[in-house]
Amino acid sequence: MTPSLVRRLPEPVYRALGALCPSPWPYTIVAFHRIAAWGDELSYPPTAFDALCRYWRDHYELLTLDCLLARLAQGDVSDHPCLTVTFDDGYADNAEVAAGILDRYGIPATFFVTTGAIGTTQCFPWDAGLSETPRMMSWNQVRGLHAAGFRIGSHTVHHVRMSATAPTVLEAELSASRQRLEAELGEAVYDFAYPFGGITDCGLEGRMAVQRAGYRCCCSCHGGLVAATDSPFHLNRVSVSPRYHPTPQAWARAYARLRWQASSATAHW
Ligand SMILES: [Zn+2]
Repeated sequence: MTPSLVRRLPEPVYRALGALCPSPWPYTIVAFHRIAAWGDELSYPPTAFDALCRYWRDHYELLTLDCLLARLAQGDVSDHPCLTVTFDDGYADNAEVAAGILDRYGIPATFFVTTGAIGTTQCFPWDAGLSETPRMMSWNQVRGLHAAGFRIGSHTVHHVRMSATAPTVLEAELSASRQRLEAELGEAVYDFAYPFGGITDCGLEGRMAVQRAGYRCCCSCHGGLVAATDSPFHLNRVSVSPRYHPTPQAWARAYARLRWQASSATAHW
């Protein structure tokens, strides 16, 4: 069956194909930015987020990043769908909107924050065209998320494009963001997601720098699902989009496609 035909199949057929899939269930890490009804690609509407969280609670085992990394370290293959929720950048709606919805459904999450933007009124360049500047979290809000049981990770100090950053500057970005988080939270910080998240935004050198800086993982924002054999320094994430995943049904179709692609890549069927 060709990929183009697979894309046109109705959703129940995807589910049936998923059930027939001979390979184990890959792990899934999803990435969000804002939970807001602003209509742009980085803003996922709160009502849709609530529906998606309810769907995930009912259909997936929701794993903390800690738990996922432990399973990968043991090469554990899952016989059921698992999902790990993450957020990038450190927008205020993460604490003001997302955390309450996650809490309602008992879903754990990791928030990767750009430490230099926390507690400031800065506007990221990609937000410049919005009708108002999205607010960033305060350090109180970051500490509040942590106190509520969510995990906090680093997303560098200045949201640098790692592949275009000099090694000494990159080293400072990795260590200073981690030190600031540890000082604010009072505990060790080990998790990292690289800014922009594209395939060319962090090469092997960047991943090695992340490892040298003492992190235990490096998350992208592309690449689909995660196999039990994948390196923790090469973790794919699925960016959840209001355009491509506006409803749980659309998510289910997209997920079935990702799983099909993952199984095709490994099992060649
Ligand atoms: Zn980012």
